Amino acid sequence: MSTLLQPVATYLTYHQAVERYQALEEIGIYALVKSCGPPTFPFGEGRYFQLLIPEDNLATAQPVLALISETEAKNGQLPLACPACASPAVEPSRNLSWVKRVFYAGTFVYGCSNCGHSFFI
Ligand SMILES: [Zn+2]
Repeated sequence: MSTLLQPVATYLTYHQAVERYQALEEIGIYALVKSCGPPTFPFGEGRYFQLLIPEDNLATAQPVLALISETEAKNGQLPLACPACASPAVEPSRNLSWVKRVFYAGTFVYGCSNCGHSFFI
């Protein structure tokens, strides 16, 4: 008997993939985690992870995965805070020098208006 594997989630971070894998394992579904997406220097591995599960388990897995996504979305709405002074008065930094622009390419740089600390996400 051959079972088709279906991707149920793509472009996950490693942490997100592990979280889903463990949640599915608890309800008896053995998922396959594969790396996907553009390769990252210097490791050459996919930067993102993909979760595949047997087709027969789709209906069972869907509510579990939906719950995880929902929880993550809620957490994502938490206000940002400065890692140095914990002040919520952070704003995206503008007027970055070109060195910083290159260095932080692909990330979002924030500056704290309370202590002046800058950090990226
Ligand atoms: Zn601060």
